[in-house]
Amino acid sequence: MCPASSPENRTTLTPDTPVQYLKGVGPKLAQRFEKLGIRTLADLLEHYPRRYLDFTHPYPPGEAPAGMACVVRAELLAKQGGRYVSGGRRVEKATAGDGVATLELTWFNNPYTIQKLTVGQEYYFEGEVTGGLLRRQMTNPQVRTAEQVAASPLAAVYPQTEGLTSAAIGRCVAQLLPHAELLGEPLPPALLQKYRLPGKAQAVREIHAPASAEAVQEARRRLIFEELLILQLGMGLLKSRGAAAAGAPMRRADPGPFWASLPFAPTGAQRRAVEEILADMAGPRSMNRLLQGDVGSGKTLVAAAALWAAVGEGYQGALLAPTELLAEQHAETLNRLLAPFGIRVALLTGGLKAAARRTTLAAIRAGEANVVVGTHAILSEGVEFARLGLAVIDEQHRFGVRQRGALAEKGASPHLLVMSATPIPRTLGLLIYGDLDISILDELPPGRRPVKTRVMTGKRRKDLYGFLDREIGQGRQVYIVCPAIEEGPDAGLTPVKTYYEEVAKALLPDRRVGLMHGKLKPKEKAAVMEDFRAGRLDALVSTTVIEVGVDVPNATVMVIENAERYGLSALHQLRGRVGRGAAESWCFLVSDNESDSVRSRLRFLCSTTDGFAVAQYDLETRGPGDFFGSRQHGLPALQIADLAADTRTLHAAQKEAAALLAADPLLQKPEHALLAAAVARMFDRAGPMN
Ligand code: ADP
Ligand code: MG
Repeated sequence: MCPASSPENRTTLTPDTPVQYLKGVGPKLAQRFEKLGIRTLADLLEHYPRRYLDFTHPYPPGEAPAGMACVVRAELLAKQGGRYVSGGRRVEKATAGDGVATLELTWFNNPYTIQKLTVGQEYYFEGEVTGGLLRRQMTNPQVRTAEQVAASPLAAVYPQTEGLTSAAIGRCVAQLLPHAELLGEPLPPALLQKYRLPGKAQAVREIHAPASAEAVQEARRRLIFEELLILQLGMGLLKSRGAAAAGAPMRRADPGPFWASLPFAPTGAQRRAVEEILADMAGPRSMNRLLQGDVGSGKTLVAAAALWAAVGEGYQGALLAPTELLAEQHAETLNRLLAPFGIRVALLTGGLKAAARRTTLAAIRAGEANVVVGTHAILSEGVEFARLGLAVIDEQHRFGVRQRGALAEKGASPHLLVMSATPIPRTLGLLIYGDLDISILDELPPGRRPVKTRVMTGKRRKDLYGFLDREIGQGRQVYIVCPAIEEGPDAGLTPVKTYYEEVAKALLPDRRVGLMHGKLKPKEKAAVMEDFRAGRLDALVSTTVIEVGVDVPNATVMVIENAERYGLSALHQLRGRVGRGAAESWCFLVSDNESDSVRSRLRFLCSTTDGFAVAQYDLETRGPGDFFGSRQHGLPALQIADLAADTRTLHAAQKEAAALLAADPLLQKPEHALLAAAVARMFDRAGPMN
């Protein structure tokens, strides 16, 4: 696909040159690159390897572990020649071995690799070994000679996508590496010196084609620093934009009347959080507060109290939810809580008919709608508030930072409250959301029955489904979560669609089973969710796209297949979808993984329902990388840095970003042009919902 020759016309190369410029990359391949977020040459150079294959420690054919990618060193014993098989595919076969064991090699539609190999010579074969001890096989292996291995002992493995393998990406990157200088040097010379960092081009070359493990470390250190510096610069710029505005001044409200209107008493934590919020809103500057609370801790009520206070001061309030379904749910709740005070709640979603939308927009503009609930559609043009004083964003991690900024621009910098169920250790939270204060709801409303959690193996799946069937028979509903498998062949995992057909429907033949996964259109997703919510489905088979925050109190069982794949925090979030009603609720963690660490991790979840304890355990045992899995925080996607693991670098980057911005508040000096461009690029990509 990408011959390793260099592009001819060097003068036209810029970081923004589309990848199609590369030899062998046509529109089709460009589309696949786009799936990985790669559009330009800079994107490709900054698509860093996920890990490396170490060619310096090859296995003999007889000892290679089956079922995972590895490197085998063996002599090529024979070529069996090529032939065509059904479907017009061409197959080449060869045998390699070391006198003890042999390895059968097969290539599909690739006659070239084998042509270049010589019988009697030793090679390194990289791929997944399959088959039993007597008949070991490798399909489509990558082949390297001893000289090649000596020149680059570590081979990069890239995040790949369908139709674009790591090896193909590697060939395209190799074609570009001679031109790594096109990226320029965004870091000021003083910083390079102070932290003894290698230059950009050198670091990029080393990370893609390292000469040694030490070289990888040096390159990573530099690239992580750069990425975190750019992140902190972006956050700093957002913050200074927010602080410049005047805010919405309010008097300190007394929440007494609001509390008195409720059918139950607020928890102590809810009272504390509301006091903190009311104090902020009465302060001289706009509020910027993060409300963190475990699933079910009652964040909506805190939001309602804050909105009530803002409307009491003559302002409008807005509540943003990540999906239409959640927006509808919130509109209902707020209406119930606020209507007794004469507060008018309007729902504004993308699904609104044109006429209804016009009316609603007019009511918002005239200030007749006191509280507006919606999805990020609220951020679109055409929505004008008469006097927006408070904006609440629910499930904050689903929103990009940019959207936060966009909302702030809707009012004269309204007070901002973002709510999240993802527990983040406080110190880290302050670093990441440098611009936010934090309130924590660490107490659940009284009377909650903890969800009974059990670990089990797939052998008992039939029994489990018997239990599900009985629960459904009693009018309850169940969720079944299973992996999507979008990239790479994951041995032993069943993709969600197959599972839906062959397991769920087969084992619940008389029940109404729905299917939900990430590839559905938003409308289709909403329709499935609505069917489930309305009780038209008994069971919902879903990937983890299953909505955060969804409240279906009639659902009492959560089954999670391949539970070993998820961090405890993710499992805890999923479990939080049940146990919302009065009935006894269950969570079943299905896993055939027998490793001790997996077993004790899952058992830990059975022992507690405290989200912070769960997060802490995750952090200690799985390491921070998992804890800050993608999309947990609403920040731009990071290529290489790990917010939790790289905290020391994050501190340093924060310090240096502050110093840079103190000297050049808008990053407009010519020597900062590349940094400013990098910030723009990172934050342009920001926001999973964009
Ligand atoms: P989350 O923090 O997960 O968003 P919700 O705001 O959806 O939680 O609240 C979960 C449930 O708890 C809702 O049904 C809500 O009415 C109820 N709830 C909230 N606060 C209290 C309270 N102080 N006492 C009793 N029930 C409450
Ligand atoms: Mg919620």
